[in-house]
Formats: sequence, C-alpha cells, structure tokens
Amino acid sequence: MNSRRRFLQKITASAFAIPFVPAYAKNIARQTNTLAQEGPPLRVAIMGLGSYGTRVAEAMRTCTRAKLVGVISGTPAKIKDWQGKYSIPEKNCYNYENFDKIKDNPDIDAVYIITPNALHRPMAIRVAKAGKHVISEKPMALNAAEGQEMVDACKKAKVKLLIGYRMHLEPKTLEIIHMRKAGDFGKVMFFQGLCGFRIGDPTQWRLNPKLAGGGAMMDIGIYAVNGARYMIGEEPTYVTAQETKTDPEKFKEGVDETILFQFGFPSGAVASCLSTYSMNNLDRFFLNGEKGYAEMQPSTGYGPIKARTNRGEIDYPHVTHQTVQMDEMADIILRGKQPEVPIDGEEGVKDMKIIDAIYLAAKTGKRVDLKL
Ligand code: NAD
Repeated sequence: MNSRRRFLQKITASAFAIPFVPAYAKNIARQTNTLAQEGPPLRVAIMGLGSYGTRVAEAMRTCTRAKLVGVISGTPAKIKDWQGKYSIPEKNCYNYENFDKIKDNPDIDAVYIITPNALHRPMAIRVAKAGKHVISEKPMALNAAEGQEMVDACKKAKVKLLIGYRMHLEPKTLEIIHMRKAGDFGKVMFFQGLCGFRIGDPTQWRLNPKLAGGGAMMDIGIYAVNGARYMIGEEPTYVTAQETKTDPEKFKEGVDETILFQFGFPSGAVASCLSTYSMNNLDRFFLNGEKGYAEMQPSTGYGPIKARTNRGEIDYPHVTHQTVQMDEMADIILRGKQPEVPIDGEEGVKDMKIIDAIYLAAKTGKRVDLKL
C-alpha cells in the first residue's frame, strides 16, 4: 500500500483528529465565512412549490449568501403555507397570471423555476422580460432550440441564466476534477455513468411527454451526459445510442424508459452510459485513466456522495448540495464569480444538444456527430 493511500485511510478513520482540511472544504468554509459580509444576499423567489422546490427552500434556510424572499404558485393554499414557514411577505407572492408584475418589485433579484420541464422555457422568457435573473431547473428546456431561446432572451434582457446543476458545485466531484486536471489519473481513457431509478405513479408529469419532453433521459440520464463531460474534461464529438422498452403501456411514445448511450471524445477517450426509469441501485460514476481511477457511488443523489480514487477515499464532510448551490449562485450572479464547472445557459444548451443527438441516434440506429 503506498504512503498516500495509507494517509488517506488514516484521515478517513479520524477525520476530526488530524488537522487536514481538503482544499475544497477550506474553500467552502472561507466563502461561507467571509462573503456573507461582502454584500447583500441574492434574494430569490421560487416558482413551483412542489417536491424539489420544497427541498431547495429547506436548504436555503442555512444559506449565508442567498435568501428565499418570494414565491410564485398557482395554489393559494401552498402560498399561505410557505408564507408562514419562510416568513414571506404578501407583496412577494405571485401566481402564474400576475407574476410579470415582479418587474416592479425591487426586493426580488432572481426567480428559480422549479416546475415541470415544459414550463422552463416560457417561464424563463417571462422572468427575463421582467428584468430578473433566471435560475432554471434541469433539463433547462425540452430541446436545444428552446434552450437557445432562453439564452437569447436572458442576454437581451441583460439578466443572468443559470441551470440548477448542483453536482457541478459538489466538493467531492470537484476534487476528482482537480485530480484529473493535475494528471493524477494519467491520460483519461474511459467514463461510465449509470443513472436510474424505478419510477412509480404512471400518472405523474414525468411520464407525460408534453410536460417532460421525454423520459428518463431528460430527468436522470442528463446527469451522465454532463458527468461524462466534466469528468473527462472534453466535449464529445459523436454519440451512439440504443433504446429498450419493457413496459410500453407506462412508457408511451415519446417517453424513454431505458437508453444506453456512448460518446467519443477528441483525445480518443470514450464514455458508456445508462439512463433508466426501470432499475434501482444505479447511481454510479467511474473514471479510468492510464495511471489511476475515480469511483463515485452514489454519484449524483442528494448525498452523502461517496467517492474514492486509486489513492483512497475522498472523505470530505457532507454538505447539503442545494445550500452550496444557492450560495455559489449568489456569488456568480451578484459578484461575477466564475465557477470551476460552468452552470450557465450555454452549458445547459450543450447538454440539450447532446440529448437531442442521443434521441436521434437511438431512433435511427446511426452514429450522430456533434460540434459543441
Ligand atoms: P413536482 O411535481 O414535485 O413539482 C412541480 C411543481 O410545479 C408543483 O408544485 C406543481 O404544482 C407545479 N406546476 C406548475 N405548473 C404545472 C403544470 N402545468 N403541471 C404540473 N405541475 C405544475 O416536481 P419536482 O420533482 O419538484 O420537479 C420540478 C423540476 O425540478 C423538474 O424540472 C425536475 O427535473 C427538477 N428537479 C431537479 C432536481 C435536482 O436535483 N436538480 C431534483 C428533482 C427535480
């Protein structure tokens, strides 16, 4: 066993006894402690008070640089409930008919769109026209053309557009990216991303192609799509894909159940990924290079993420992804910070172009070339 590995195992056993603070943990602590004093927080209104909206709101309770100040919802009872839980004043509450008036509200900086996928584009365009920064959940839109419309609308309105890519800001993920950049794994040859879960209720919007824009690929496969890109550190030049369906009743036309897809990269590295709505225990990334490897399992769930490399476990303290995300987004929007892995609209469009190509490759059985 090499000495670095022994060292990492030792710190795993007694993380708090040894004064070893990984670079990223230090970074997060420093940002959390200091930036709170550097300016006002990002004041956010959440649109879509469903399951993920609630998770974000709860996580924002411990943000130091972002603050939940408003809501946009079609359900008056939910608005009332959130007003009580998060002390949201009446003047910051909107519904889908009247929220364009948010443009006259100086107390809200950004709107976080956490609705079904099909609403991301039209809502983002309305938010941009109201002069507020836009945060859109993933997938940013139903396809690349829609995503580009969002980018253009935000540019025109001179507001920022960010995508809710929480893993792009996750410390263990970033440490692996650092190690890869430092050459610790040697020449990177291969990435594998396995992303899936068994989806329940057949009546939910995720299985309605009009609202979801697809199936597992739009919802969970997207993590392997951008994971392949940020883990390998290159843009894919081609895609191949194969689709299987075991339950055409539940997964109707336009809703993918399982897709296997492969990417080729300019360096010669390749990726092999699985996206599915019909298997559990699939949350795994594996990166292989000539000198070493990184393995994450779980890799994209809410955590704790588990990550190890050929040098041992990456034993950083767990952070709530959405808390880190919203604090980082505050710095990106208000203070122009450049994140290590981009989370802007252009980045979202690249993922949508790849997903469009995956669907085309699965449909035609042919390799689809990409220029990103
Ligand atoms: P959800 O069904 O729990 O919530 C959706 C909300 O949108 C509900 O409050 C619903 O009332 C509202 N809504 C507004 N217009 C609607 C319409 N026309 N039809 C149906 N609902 C409508 O869904 P969710 O799990 O919160 O997902 C919302 C978005 O968040 C999706 O885009 C999803 O991909 C994304 N998401 C991201 C993550 C992540 O980790 N980044 C995790 C879960 C969900």
